[in-house]
Amino acid sequence: MSSHIILPPAMLGMLGGGQLGRFFVIAAHEMGYRVTVLDPDKNSPAGKIADVHLCADYDDAAALKTMAETCQAITTEFENVPASTLENLAQTRTVRPSAKAVSIAQHRVLEKQFIRDAGIPVAPFVVVNAASDLPADADAIYPAILKVARFGYDGKGQARVADKAQAQTAFEAFKGEQCVLEKMLSLDYEVSVVLARDAQGNVAAYPLAENSHLNGILDVSIVPARAPKAIQDQARQLAIKIAEKLEYVGVLAVEFFVSNGELLANEMAPRPHNSGHYTIDSNVTNQFEQQLRALVGLPLGDSRLHSQAVMVNILGDVWKNGTEPAWDKIFARPELKLHLYGKHEPRPGRKMGHYTVIGADQETVIVNAIKAREELGIG
Ligand code: ATP
Ligand code: MG
Repeated sequence: MSSHIILPPAMLGMLGGGQLGRFFVIAAHEMGYRVTVLDPDKNSPAGKIADVHLCADYDDAAALKTMAETCQAITTEFENVPASTLENLAQTRTVRPSAKAVSIAQHRVLEKQFIRDAGIPVAPFVVVNAASDLPADADAIYPAILKVARFGYDGKGQARVADKAQAQTAFEAFKGEQCVLEKMLSLDYEVSVVLARDAQGNVAAYPLAENSHLNGILDVSIVPARAPKAIQDQARQLAIKIAEKLEYVGVLAVEFFVSNGELLANEMAPRPHNSGHYTIDSNVTNQFEQQLRALVGLPLGDSRLHSQAVMVNILGDVWKNGTEPAWDKIFARPELKLHLYGKHEPRPGRKMGHYTVIGADQETVIVNAIKAREELGIG
């Protein structure tokens, strides 16, 4: 819609009330904006600190009407927000990113096809609509990972399969939902690029993050990634290419595999990303402020990294028998920044918070991040 600048104390809309939304609210408040959060959970981390929390479903007509009437621009933190919700709001308000971009990013089949058609390498895959689409054992795709096309996150909705029989069992367990069967690659390491793109097409890309996962959930991000410069440059170029092809406005994250020295795109997220959380503590402008700037039409901020950073996720597993972790030890570390999301229930696998260790020397930062991990008893 219009390209005019929205200034404080305007009310902005956020679809989704998780930790990403919460960091957006914090950034918006810092800059004098107000935020209305839509999330059906009355205890949502962002809803609790928002100016207004609309506690309703993402397709609730009354809530969307209120949002359209009271918010000058609307964005999302929740990848699975119905595209129809974004389309509905976009009729009267600025919505960034667009319904089109979000609908591609939230659908693994459309996403893979889009990335591949953009000329970017991806792991070999087959779209599975029915069990009869599963390739035979002789196919080079096995061992593979079966991933549901929609609503998967943090490794949920995925099964590792050695052959067709296992793939069939997994497909049935996913209740015959559309899936992607993807060749299991041997990974050298994984990286991601978070970038912001404004309505004029200016791009601010963050440095490459090197990510390691535990049980399919992001565990650690090391920034900058310890990757050859050619990989760093190429990953950023590919992510920018995706953003441009999507005519994307907002913050976009692209995850990559590095396999046998080659970059392959894994997936994208139409929002700030867990692997960009370090930007809160080690960059001039963090990813949530960039999201806000792109939304309200301000020029993007300086995305420069001013410190080496290692981010470590804190999952609910760290609360052993419900006991609070030793926060005093964590707070005693001057080089460490702790962020807790205000979630009540520390369930295993649930992202409860993270910390970022910053410093001038990467090796020291890594060592300090590991020490803090040990203090928290992270595996
Ligand atoms: P998230 O939303 O947390 O990023 P997700 O559930 O959407 O995760 P993916 O990113 O597709 O899932 O996969 C999670 C992790 O599983 C990857 O980061 C990678 O470690 C591993 N993985 C996924 N696909 C492959 C593959 N084809 N070959 C090897 N490892 C893979
Ligand atoms: Mg992923």
